[in-house]
Amino acid sequence: MGKQTMGTPGTALKYRTDNKSYKLQTGQTPVVRAPLHNEYGLDNFPNGTNAVVAVISYTGYDMDDAMILNKSAHERGFGHGTIYKTKQINLAEGQGRGRGAVTHMFGFAPGGLVKAQWRATLDDDGLAAVGMKMKEGDIIAASHTVVKDPQTGEYINRDGITHLHRYKDSEQAFVEEIKLIGNESGSSDPCQAISIRLRIPRSPVVGDKFSSRHGQKGVLSQKWPMPDMPFSESGMQPDVIINPHAFPSRMTIGMFVESLAGKSGALHGVAQDSTPFKFKDQEGQTATEYFGHQLKRAGYNYYGNEPMYSGITGQELGADIYVGVVYYQRLRHMVNDKYQVRTTGPVTPLTGQPIKGRAKGGGIRVGEMERDALLAHGTAFLLQDRLLNCSDYTKAWLCKACGSFLSTQPAVGQFGRRRPNEALRVRCRRCSHKVKIGGVEPKNDVWEDKSGQKWAGGEDVTQVAVPGVLRYLDVELAAMGIRLNFKVEP
Ligand SMILES: [Zn+2]
Repeated sequence: MGKQTMGTPGTALKYRTDNKSYKLQTGQTPVVRAPLHNEYGLDNFPNGTNAVVAVISYTGYDMDDAMILNKSAHERGFGHGTIYKTKQINLAEGQGRGRGAVTHMFGFAPGGLVKAQWRATLDDDGLAAVGMKMKEGDIIAASHTVVKDPQTGEYINRDGITHLHRYKDSEQAFVEEIKLIGNESGSSDPCQAISIRLRIPRSPVVGDKFSSRHGQKGVLSQKWPMPDMPFSESGMQPDVIINPHAFPSRMTIGMFVESLAGKSGALHGVAQDSTPFKFKDQEGQTATEYFGHQLKRAGYNYYGNEPMYSGITGQELGADIYVGVVYYQRLRHMVNDKYQVRTTGPVTPLTGQPIKGRAKGGGIRVGEMERDALLAHGTAFLLQDRLLNCSDYTKAWLCKACGSFLSTQPAVGQFGRRRPNEALRVRCRRCSHKVKIGGVEPKNDVWEDKSGQKWAGGEDVTQVAVPGVLRYLDVELAAMGIRLNFKVEP
């Protein structure tokens, strides 16, 4: 899980300009480790935190792969992380200017108007103040146009207009650093590009993902106040609670061993060797025996169990609880980057159906399986809501006589434009016939198309609510010579 971990990506973070990098603020070195951990110097790149983990089904908030976090542990820094993002503003970009002539410069237009609200986030130099909190739409830099004065060689601004560059992301961030980027020729042309490093603090929230090094990943379901957490006889409280049902099917025995080793290592103040099958002829035959004896020497239960007391009632729990120290990693999958919400919003122009993609405000697909599930619950109205009302609900005209969407067309009013209170007249072209010159048609039946041609009949049309794609399907099929026929009742 190393790649997904919010860890220590490097030691020269200050000089890096990654588009996005994740950093754990409170990294620790693992109590339980392999010899190579030392050889590779991984202590310089902490990847997680040693957490006291209790394996217990407690209140149901640790159901399935959820985990409960001790709120106080979180407040002491457990799992605190930061995202660093780098944005660039390049004035030379897209200017299409010839031979490197400078047309823009950073800063407020000299002599121009500088509004107080611009100065809320900007410094004197027209760049965002370091440490400033940025919301969506806040001004991050200012620039103005310049021309070179051929006499003095100075750049002068003529229009006095300041152009603003804004912070576009929806998440709040702090300005960490602004770098002025020089040019490649090394000339003394004014600065044309800046790089802004933004810092987004991400303390753990409900829905964030954590994992031990055994692939036992889980989602934070509750930040439990310390008084409600179970406690041992010595008053120890777990940082993390996970459910025992996460083990039988996955058979991650290594995590039990780590828990045992971590606990004994913490008690004796040693970094334990996690290499398997290395414990013969020492304290015993197996890892369990080896660490069990260590625990026993420290005055703890040989098997790592401890009696615990409910934090809610204060009563002793019916069973002894397996508690130990396990190295926990914070993974970079966070709800803040993933949550989706939509009622209605942007749609695909062709079909009228919602677009996909979280960033664009799209929806998540209610596919066939989801449809099946809703059907199985008998929740037909919910299904209609998802598939029609919140999707591509349209009202379409349909000819009841010939059963087609495609042959209907609005009739032009007798005097050109429709009067305000006059109902829209839609007629079926297919079910009507041309009025012959001098023909005797009932006057009410006669209508006119846009080119002034007179028609009679075809008034058996109605409006139906259908998904927009249905009409689109009809059109596509018609292009292949297939006609759809709709029977509308009454
Ligand atoms: Zn018709």
